Amino acid sequence: MNIGQHLEAARADLGGALRDCPGAHPGLEAEILMAEALETPRSFLYAHPELEMPPARGQAYRAMVERRMRGEPIAYITGTREFWSLTFRVTPEVLVPRPETELLVETALERLAGSAPGRIADLGTGSGAIACALASERRGDEVTGTDISYDALEIARANAGDLGLHNTRFVHGSWCAPLDGSYQCIVSNPPYIAAGDPHLDHGDCRFEPRTALTPGGDGLAPFHTIARDARGHLSEGGWLLFEHGNDQGEAVRDILTAQGYERVETCQDLERRDRVTLG
Ligand code: GLN
Repeated sequence: MNIGQHLEAARADLGGALRDCPGAHPGLEAEILMAEALETPRSFLYAHPELEMPPARGQAYRAMVERRMRGEPIAYITGTREFWSLTFRVTPEVLVPRPETELLVETALERLAGSAPGRIADLGTGSGAIACALASERRGDEVTGTDISYDALEIARANAGDLGLHNTRFVHGSWCAPLDGSYQCIVSNPPYIAAGDPHLDHGDCRFEPRTALTPGGDGLAPFHTIARDARGHLSEGGWLLFEHGNDQGEAVRDILTAQGYERVETCQDLERRDRVTLG
């Protein structure tokens, strides 16, 4: 079979298998996996659809397509995901970085704009995507990522290394526990999905670390803990920023206000849903 025929078959198979999978793009994903199988840019596929696939490559391609047909996130199959125009390694030990999380990075950068170089912390850093995005934009700042997962810290360090971000460090511990001294900005995209939310049983979530998605209960526990503990680590005029679920804006504002934070506000995404709250 040639490249074009393989792609056509994969497109049809993925289209059928991922019919109910939110955010799936069968045509695009067939091409991404093909580019991976042939270790070539996607543009090569458009130029050479008639090229015969070497059988070993064809088999490797089908194996990847079948993993995706079973619902595995494409980022775990290719081992990479773009975030903030940077390429990150991802494995099943970490949450796949989401495009919507760029709003958290954007909001933090707005608050930091014009400030002297200082220190930033990212709590529950996972792949290190948020920490690295901030470190890439704020080269003069030192960015600390914390996580309770040693596997995640290893991936975060590898990502920072690949990206040449020497202004990062990744330390083990729960939320604020490993922090020392003060920070001008503390950000977190903690697990916040409520226990039993059907979202957990759909799409990529089924394959991601549960502990990165849900803290159990109403999903708000990490916001309480971090809001309480981050106070002692913020410098004068510093900001704490959270990503949260689009129905948690009011609850998170209340948590911050109750802990004595000032200038508490929520930012919305392009669809006008509450996604980031800061104080
Ligand atoms: N926003 C992610 C999702 O919808 C969840 C991320 C998180 O819990 N921090 O799957």
